[in-house]
Amino acid sequence: MGQLDRQLGDRLVKHYNRGLTEHGDTAQGALWPNEIDRRTRFGVMLDVIETSPATSIVLCDLGCGTGSLLSYIRERGLENITYIGVDYSAAALKLARAKFPGVTFIEMNIADPDADWDRISCDYLVCNGVFTGKMDISHKEMWLLLENTIKNAWYQVRRGLAFNVMSKVVDWERDDLLHVPMDDSVRLLHGLAGRNVRVRADYGLYEYTSYAFKLPSDCVEATAPASDFVPVLRPLLPSCDRLLPYLRRIDRARVYTNHGPLLAELEMRLSARFNLPVESVVCASSGTTALVGAILATAGRATAERPLALVPAFTFAATALAAEQCGYRPYLVDIDEATWALDPDKLALHPMLDQAGVVIPVAPFGRTIAQSGWMNFRNRTGVPVAIDAAASFDGLTQEPQSFVGTIPISLSFHATKSFSAGCGGAVVSSDCDLVARAGQALNFGFFHGRESESFGTNGKLSEYHAAVGLAELDGWHEKSAAMRTVINEYRAYLGEAGLAHRLVGAPEISVGYVLFRCVDADEAMRVRAGLQQHGVDHRLWYSHGLQHHSYFSQLKRDDLSITEAVAPCLIGLPMAPDLSTGQIAQVAAALCASVRMP
Ligand SMILES: *Cc1c(COP(=O)(O)O)cnc(C)c1O
Repeated sequence: MGQLDRQLGDRLVKHYNRGLTEHGDTAQGALWPNEIDRRTRFGVMLDVIETSPATSIVLCDLGCGTGSLLSYIRERGLENITYIGVDYSAAALKLARAKFPGVTFIEMNIADPDADWDRISCDYLVCNGVFTGKMDISHKEMWLLLENTIKNAWYQVRRGLAFNVMSKVVDWERDDLLHVPMDDSVRLLHGLAGRNVRVRADYGLYEYTSYAFKLPSDCVEATAPASDFVPVLRPLLPSCDRLLPYLRRIDRARVYTNHGPLLAELEMRLSARFNLPVESVVCASSGTTALVGAILATAGRATAERPLALVPAFTFAATALAAEQCGYRPYLVDIDEATWALDPDKLALHPMLDQAGVVIPVAPFGRTIAQSGWMNFRNRTGVPVAIDAAASFDGLTQEPQSFVGTIPISLSFHATKSFSAGCGGAVVSSDCDLVARAGQALNFGFFHGRESESFGTNGKLSEYHAAVGLAELDGWHEKSAAMRTVINEYRAYLGEAGLAHRLVGAPEISVGYVLFRCVDADEAMRVRAGLQQHGVDHRLWYSHGLQHHSYFSQLKRDDLSITEAVAPCLIGLPMAPDLSTGQIAQVAAALCASVRMP
């Protein structure tokens, strides 16, 4: 792409200003042949808006002139459009501002290579009549301006944009107009929006309008769930506005991964939150890789003498898969009825212990696991332990003193967890050498240089995910408070029905989960059917236990009768920081209707 010439803007504006002087604030003054065709174009341009008229959007009119599109919008009564006008003609903007006090009009030369496009932030952008005329400017120069303008605009719009040019499919072309082959326009937009491109030439003029969208056109509305269906989980991560300051830091530093400055800051702020020195936390690319790092750092890979990893059957698949990645064969152990976790005292007497290279207790639903029991276990048996505490971010912030010790714990920052970086995780331990070894394992086994000194993988957290993590920390106070409010509302609604004691939620477990405890499998079946009938989504977060996954069904295991009894009875209910009172009431009503009342 060639370099833009900012004087091009001056030449164009001089031309438009002449029209305005001669014909005043009319269609002809804006160099359109007549008013009727101009209104047709306005309608075609507004077709870029795919959201329903009830949705509030910001529309940028690039090349707004005197703001006639806004008059048209107001005539049509489109009240939910916030309009921003952009033009380089001071004379036109003066008229526009006089007509529409309080509306934002920005003076900008789109031909200026240093133009500050960041001033424009909008859902949709239309560019009407900017690239239909070319006066005596060469086609090549005008196309360059068009290409640059549309690309710059694309980065500012959230949903889509539209522009018009003259068609090549005409009886004759005019030298002072810009006739562009449709292929050229579509190729340009395809480079930006993939296949989410549309062209219209059905409105009776010698031009066509091209549209590009950031989502497949039918997805814009589909992202909002049907009003009466309550999804079990609708993660809410920091908005792009909150991310932007961090993303700008990435742009400036040009470090995108490998222990960049944002990751360093995230590890520092996390350790401060856990009340630990910074060397106690190393981030990972996921909760699963964090667990791999923790296992490798504390136990190393499996050996022929100790090929087994003792794993609870009541957990998410990742626990056993992480053990396999470190060379272990998972051996499934049953949980304790009260804690839903492995019992260290019982496990110390386990017959398979002399073949176990590692034990991986799981903190179920983020419920705290005290270090003391497992430290005793390790001292008594000599078998290393790594705790899968994937969902325990909030537990860790609440009671780091009992949760953290020399036994490493791994966290997940997946979008489904209460605290999220989109995807990510961390290894936490008071043993800083162990944390350093976990970091080494997650960086190809490199320690001092680029020499692999131990087994490893690439499990590092990128700067982009660190940016999300930092923005999430900024908003964590509000997010966790909102989720606690949801849980309290659940308690209030179920309390009225005498069912509050069946609810399991924060602070007992992570704020990210709300569980309904059924008395037996029969009731659980009835409740799940009832929820479904009432349009309430739900989930058995740890399914029926690992032994029921086809891939794990061949694993050696103990008698798993507690897992078999507990797993189907703990029903995950809808949870989101913005779950509405109406939705909570809907869930509560569904529960009350399906539970056998005493
Ligand atoms: C979420 C979760 C994981 C996996 O974390 P990812 O970040 O998705 O890799 C592992 N174990 C448990 C118990 C989990 O809940």
